[in-house]
Amino acid sequence: GKAVPLDKLLQSQGFGSRKACRQLVEAGRVQVNGQACTDAGTSFLSEGLLLQVDGQDWPWRAQLYLALYKPPGFECSRTPQHYPSVLSLLPAHFVTRGVQPVGRLDADTSGLLLLTDDGAFNHALASPKRHVPKTYRVQCKHAVSAAQIDALLAGVQLHDEPAPLAALAAMLVDSHRLDLCIDQGKYHQVKRMLAAAGNRVEGLHRLAMGDVRLGEGCLLGLAEGEWCELDATALAQLG
Ligand code: URA
Repeated sequence: GKAVPLDKLLQSQGFGSRKACRQLVEAGRVQVNGQACTDAGTSFLSEGLLLQVDGQDWPWRAQLYLALYKPPGFECSRTPQHYPSVLSLLPAHFVTRGVQPVGRLDADTSGLLLLTDDGAFNHALASPKRHVPKTYRVQCKHAVSAAQIDALLAGVQLHDEPAPLAALAAMLVDSHRLDLCIDQGKYHQVKRMLAAAGNRVEGLHRLAMGDVRLGEGCLLGLAEGEWCELDATALAQLG
């Protein structure tokens, strides 16, 4: 690798404009590998670099891959209409870097949401060709019947889709809840599939994408509203 000036390194990590980053350094708010540095022109290798800003660790990342436990009442859009954006749950400099949700969850849906500033990765993962299985816990208005499970597995016709959409798996949790696994990501897909099967979704929570699961004892033991970085192992488990 090539050594890069500190202000430029900070800028690449989302800490604002080159000028803002230079001021951050000159104000004595930045440490590099445990040492204070007030000269923004000092160059460092990016690999393995540990930045500290206002005493907080920010290991250097070429790209960011995040998992967020989305609470209900947040929109996945950058320009939300009715609720705050999920981006408001992340550190500001991640947003400045251009982190975007991978696909979308409805405002009232909770659960696992991935975000990244790696556009190619985002596009590939969101692509229908990739068929990443997504598992949802569905709270239903009416008791779930065996006929409804059968219909979801056989495929239900949504009015603007050319072909029926079938779930990969549908498992009863109790009388009014089921875990549904699908590998597409059409608009309001789970809600529309349940409606087409003759029920109605009253609560929706995404449990997993591929083998990346939310929940206690799972890969991501996050609490609602918390985020973490996905390491290479987790990224490989997306399927
Ligand atoms: N299906 C839906 O209907 N809503 C979501 O948020 C996700 C999947």
